[in-house]
Formats: sequence, structure tokens, C-alpha cells
Amino acid sequence: MNHKLIDVHTHPFFDLAEVGKTLDFMDRYVIEKVFSLGIPRHEDGNDRVLALKKLAPGRIVAGPYFDPREKDAIDDLARFHDAGCRIVKLFPNLGYYPDDRAYLPFFEKAAELGYGILSHCGWLGSKAVSSTKYARPGRFEELFRRFPETLFVMAHMGGIDGFIEGIMYTTRTPNVYLDTTPGQSRWVFSHAAEFVRGMPHERLLMGTDGIFPPWEDGTDGHEEYENQRAMLESIGWADKTQDVLYNNASRVIEKYGLLG
Ligand SMILES: [Zn+2]
Repeated sequence: MNHKLIDVHTHPFFDLAEVGKTLDFMDRYVIEKVFSLGIPRHEDGNDRVLALKKLAPGRIVAGPYFDPREKDAIDDLARFHDAGCRIVKLFPNLGYYPDDRAYLPFFEKAAELGYGILSHCGWLGSKAVSSTKYARPGRFEELFRRFPETLFVMAHMGGIDGFIEGIMYTTRTPNVYLDTTPGQSRWVFSHAAEFVRGMPHERLLMGTDGIFPPWEDGTDGHEEYENQRAMLESIGWADKTQDVLYNNASRVIEKYGLLG
């Protein structure tokens, strides 16, 4: 692969001591920048995000995991902002509606500090009791409209139960993007290609849920970049791959100041 890539959806699956390997991986596969996003099941996940950010501030968009139900969440927004973080990663599936008025102060603070919001959408295969009903793009609409200067990325194409909502917002609101992170995106591309072709392709960002493996099947995860390219070609978007794999994200990072 010789074209540059930006992956807007990776997680810090590396051990803290091995943070440097992530950069080796990025260099090997010409991945210019990544969004590194915290996850609830990794207790030191946010520390790993910070460690990676520190190592390569110009290449890492840092997105710690937050839960707006937690009482320290608002203070943490300021603390992580000081460390250069500019994305909030959410998993509403764990039991809250993002448009619940109780969490408005959290989103007001995030918007005030210039954070973008990237939320898991749709099915969440975690051991915790969890539901897709909390994590549909529609549960964010009031926030999209209340904070038009704030970037919102609805992951996994908005989810299998939410992709039509997600696509609708990309055609109606200036600040909403979808990401192509598998596996629900795979389902959407193969079963609803006509819908995907109806969205402005400039609003689509490439994500893999990768970095840093090795995965259970022994691969290091870079194959997913070829899968992504093939997935875009499969719906007739061969001429748009470089936008989705790189240019769109590059513009978003610039426009929203996501490198901190
Ligand atoms: Zn993810």
C-alpha cells in the first residue's frame, strides 16, 4: 500500500511498555495519523492513550473514554484537554441516553473546550449488559443541533439499527460524520449499499478498531486497510477511496483542531 492513511478509530490494545511498537506499525503501513480511543474494559486505557499522544503528539488524535454519568467526568474533560486530548469517546450502550438533559452540562463543557465527540453506535459485543437502543445516532440529534460547531462521529456507520439515521444527519447537519469501522459497517456496505451511495462521501471516515494487535488469528491487523479499500470499491466508490482513507480525516483534523 503506497497511499497515506488516517485511521480515525483505533484502540490502545498495546501494553504501556510497548507503546513505541504502535508507531512502528504506523510507519510500516504508511498510517500518518490515528485517533487513539479509550475503552471501558481497559482500566488503564486512557493512560495508554496519553502515553501514545506524548510519544507522537503530531500524529495522534487522543480520545479518552468518558462516561458522563460519573461525577468526575466534567473535571476530567479539563484535565485531559490540558494533555492535548480533543476527542471524547463514548459508549452509551452501557446504559444512558446521550440526549438525557442530565448530561447536558457534560456536553456543554466538551463543546466549550473544543472536543469532538466520537460515539460507539449499534451493537456492542461486550460481556457487560448493554443495549443498542442507547447508542443510535438519533439519540444525539439534539446535541448535533445544539452544538453545530462541535464535530460528531457516529462509529460503525451508525450501527446496523441506526445507519439510516446516521446517513440522514450527514445530509442535514454540517458537523456529523460516520466511520467505516467493522464489523457493522461490513453489514451496511453489503446489505445497504444504495443507502451508503446516498450520503456525501466527504462525511465518511475510515476506521478499523485496530492497533495494536496481534489479533487472535495471528495477523497484525494491517490487512483491514485492504479490506476497507475493497469495501469502498464494492459499492462503486473506487474513485473516492483516497478521500475516505485519508483526505476527509485530514480535513476534519485541521478544521476542528484535533491534534490539540
Ligand atoms: Zn471501537
